[in-house]
Amino acid sequence: MKKNVHPEYKKTVIKCACGETIETRSTVQDLRIDLCSQCHPFFTGQQKFVDSAGMVEKFKKRYEAGMEKAKKIKDKEAK
Ligand SMILES: [Zn+2]
Repeated sequence: MKKNVHPEYKKTVIKCACGETIETRSTVQDLRIDLCSQCHPFFTGQQKFVDSAGMVEKFKKRYEAGMEKAKKIKDKEAK
């Protein structure tokens, strides 16, 4: 093998948000993931929201704000 052209392929640990750790080999060290085979709904058979970026919360806020606005418009029209 040529020197300095091959990235180092070292032992590493992948850490999941659920606490699961997987030992593997990679050129990247200390990987962090949100889902693994231990906690993904497909493997657990349970329904759960995969909401790592807070998208559900964001949607709820936007939805509530929209409802408030619609209510105000309705109130105005009623007058
Ligand atoms: Zn996991």
